Amino acid sequence: MEKIMSITIWVLLFILGSCIYSFLNVIIYRAPKKMNFIKGRSICPACGHTLKAWDLVPVLSYMALRGKCRYCKEKIGIRDTLIEIAGGIIAVICAWHFQDAPIEGVVVFAFISILMVVTWTDIDTMEIPDGCHIAIAVLAVISFIISAAILHGANEYTVTGVKLASRIIGMLCISMPMLIMALALPGAFGGGDIKLMMAGGLFLGWKLTVVAAVLALLTGGLWGILLLITKKKGRKEHFAFGPFLCAGMALAIFFGEALVGWYMGFLQF
Ligand SMILES: [Zn+2]
Repeated sequence: MEKIMSITIWVLLFILGSCIYSFLNVIIYRAPKKMNFIKGRSICPACGHTLKAWDLVPVLSYMALRGKCRYCKEKIGIRDTLIEIAGGIIAVICAWHFQDAPIEGVVVFAFISILMVVTWTDIDTMEIPDGCHIAIAVLAVISFIISAAILHGANEYTVTGVKLASRIIGMLCISMPMLIMALALPGAFGGGDIKLMMAGGLFLGWKLTVVAAVLALLTGGLWGILLLITKKKGRKEHFAFGPFLCAGMALAIFFGEALVGWYMGFLQF
């Protein structure tokens, strides 16, 4: 019985995560078009037919409809469904990783959710809306208030345990070098990337922000080389760097402490 209960909880968490990310898909689609994402029914982008509730069930509707619009039979892209599945998995990972600190888990889930919107909006439009930076900054303030209100053995590697000084250094330690590089080499980074690292640094504190930047440079650099080799993009063209910054920040939360420990150990030999 206990086992069934615990399986049920994980399944419910997965469903909750995928429902929240289903709503994020609406924001990703509508925000760049300046559409209201609270009001207004969802429509099929191909035929304009208003979609019913049973067309919008995360993951399941896509499977039941075999990836086609019920009304015009136009193919529906699989991206939204993959984002919903990712939402379910991220909810489960956050709950599992932060079993002993559930508030931390909720804050991290909220942060990664904003990063998901940043990632896909940047890929779609090559821009990051200011609303995302503001949302991350607000979350940083909330997590700072939480850490002041409750002490749960949090350290510099937990996002609710980051001290104020570390947050302020974090806000500047990566964004300022990026700003200088952007001024020296026009087009090196977009303003959105710089603001993202300011807000992200305020949230993560300086240690995780540095880890995030290193991970972003490594993965983004590899991606850039891959694009050059496969000749998908020329040397002068740009690709969205925001997704790599987002991936770096998300990975830093889960692996930052271990990576720093590994690197420090590596230096001693
Ligand atoms: Zn349709």
